[in-house]
Parts: sequence; structure tokens; C-alpha cells
Amino acid sequence: MNKWPYLLPLLLFFSGCAGITSGTRNLLNTSCEIKVSGVSRGKALRAIDAAFREVERASAIFNFYDSKSELSRVNRLAYPGPVRVSAELFSVLEDAVKISEITDGAFDVSIAPVVSLWKSRFSEGLPPQTSEIRQLLSLVDYRNMVLNRNDMTVSFTKKGMRVDLGGIAKGYAVKLAAGRLREYGIRNALINFGGDIQAIGSRRNDTPWKVGIRHPRSNRETLLTTIEVSDRCVFTSGDYERFFIFNGIRYHHIIDPKTGYPARGCVSFTIITDDPVYADGLATGCFILGPVNGPASAKRVPHTDFIVVEETDKGGVRVSSSMNLPGISKKSP
Ligand code: AMP
Ligand code: MG
Repeated sequence: MNKWPYLLPLLLFFSGCAGITSGTRNLLNTSCEIKVSGVSRGKALRAIDAAFREVERASAIFNFYDSKSELSRVNRLAYPGPVRVSAELFSVLEDAVKISEITDGAFDVSIAPVVSLWKSRFSEGLPPQTSEIRQLLSLVDYRNMVLNRNDMTVSFTKKGMRVDLGGIAKGYAVKLAAGRLREYGIRNALINFGGDIQAIGSRRNDTPWKVGIRHPRSNRETLLTTIEVSDRCVFTSGDYERFFIFNGIRYHHIIDPKTGYPARGCVSFTIITDDPVYADGLATGCFILGPVNGPASAKRVPHTDFIVVEETDKGGVRVSSSMNLPGISKKSP
């Protein structure tokens, strides 16, 4: 599998000015960085440490692959259920359902059995049989996950159903980190978890944070564009993050629940919005919906912008955005 140069995150960011304290950890299977500006180094380091501890705590709840996680317990017991869950997991599942509704079912956490099948084939680089996919697709429909807020329970109406929060968990982790930083009195910070970003306040003196969006089909240094953000999130889903090529076709990790196959149409879909959970879920869902329907879904959420990258017939890329960006065509949803 030729991962390089596509494997690394799309986003670079610039913040090399004085007075910025940063910390980095490997969490959520990626490199997570937090930069804080405008406070003493000691105060910044305490806040960064608290934010990372919070992410570590929560990531244990959402780990699909850890049989001891709360999510795994739900996957074991929700059929026939009901199974009582923490308020935290319940609210993430509720957000997942809202994002499914906004994206007309393209984002669907019950896609887990099909995603697991695809992921099991990544090391050999061979797509699964259509019959295997079809069989597992019958388990996929988020409407068969019943959430009962009165007693905080979850049940699945189909045996074999499972949920995977991989398309939204990083957004939730970023939200927790931002919350902790604010509790520690931080007003200006940039959270960058594997290229997905939340900007808190500004870089300094009302100068916004600058986020470079990298070219998904070029080397690491090539940028598509740079955007300025304050108090917004920038999340990208793309076909270059995990993939293999078989018979000249790229098979990646974002699965269209309508077909059971990797979604076609976009190279990447970037969402710029207020809430990181929505940014993460919408990026995944809109990527699946494609360059025509994705933007329409994104605009259902207030204060939301997007950048879409499509592949052209000649193997190049076409970039469009809801924002006014130099050199990029403006696209209305
Ligand atoms: P992201 O990189 O945020 O787009 O998330 C990709 C991850 O989301 C995959 O690795 C899967 O775990 C999960 N996923 C794949 N397809 C879907 C889908 N249709 N709906 C929700 N989650 C998905
Ligand atoms: Mg996502």
C-alpha cells in the first residue's frame, strides 16, 4: 500500500509566534497537539495536561476495539437490550442520530459490521465479496438503534447490530479538550488532533489562527488554501487517510451505507463550523453524500462552511468552497 504522501493529515497550521506553549501526545491513534497563547507557560502546561487527561479518560469509553470499553458493552448487550449507559455515551449517540438525520442517513454509526469487514481486508488489499457486504448491510440502519432518554438506555432491534463511533469520536474528544482548557481560564488555543482542528479565540491580539489546508493528491508541503479561524472547528474526511488500491481502484475507509462500498465522488470534504462533534460527523457524512448533495446537507447546520475536493477525469482535482477563498471557485449549496 502506497500510503505516502497521502497518509498524513491534510491540515497544517502556523502559530510560531512567541508566547505560545504547546504540548503533544499520541492519543486516539494519532498525534494530538494543543497550542495555548496569551498566558504564562506554567498555566498553559497545566491546562494542556488536564485537557489530554480528559481525552484519555473519554477515549477509553468509545474504543470499539477494546472489549472492556463502555461502547463494547453496548455492542454486546443492546440486542435484545435495553442496556443502561452513561449520560456521556448517551449524548454522543444522540448527536450521532441527529447527524444521520441531517445527512439523510449517509452518516450512520450502525455501519460498524460493514466497516469491520472492510478493515479486515485492508492488510491483504482485497475487497470483500459483494455477497458478504450485502448480508452485513441488512444490519445497518441507525433507526434500529432505540435511545430512551427517560432511563438512559440503548437497544438494538436487530441481532448482530453494532455501532462504531469512529466518524465522530475525535470531534467529541476535541470538544472535551476545549472545555477543559476553558475551565482552566484559557481564552486562546489551537487544538489539532491528527489534522482536525478547533480554534479557541485568536492567536494573539485579535489575529485569527491560520489553518493551512493541504492538497490531498500532492506532497505534504502543498497547500490548497489557508483559512483564518477564530472560535471555529475545521474537520476533514478524505479518501487518502486509509486505503488500498486493487485493480486500479482506490478502496478507503469511509463506507456509503447505501452500497456497502467506499463512498465515491469526493477526494476530501472539509467542514468549518462551531461544534467539533458536528464538524467531525458532517465531514464524514457529507464526504459520503458527494460534491452535489454534501454541500446542501452541510448548510442545514447554521454557521457552517465547506471545502470540497473532487477528482477530475484527467486525474487532477477540482476545489470549491462556500467561502470566498483566493483561487477556489465559489460553490452555493
Ligand atoms: P472520519 O475520518 O472522521 O471520516 O471517520 C472515518 C471512520 O468513521 C471510519 O474509520 C469508520 O470507523 C467510521 N465510518 C465509516 N463509514 C461511516 C459512515 N457511513 N457513518 C459513520 N461512520 C462511518
Ligand atoms: Mg468524521
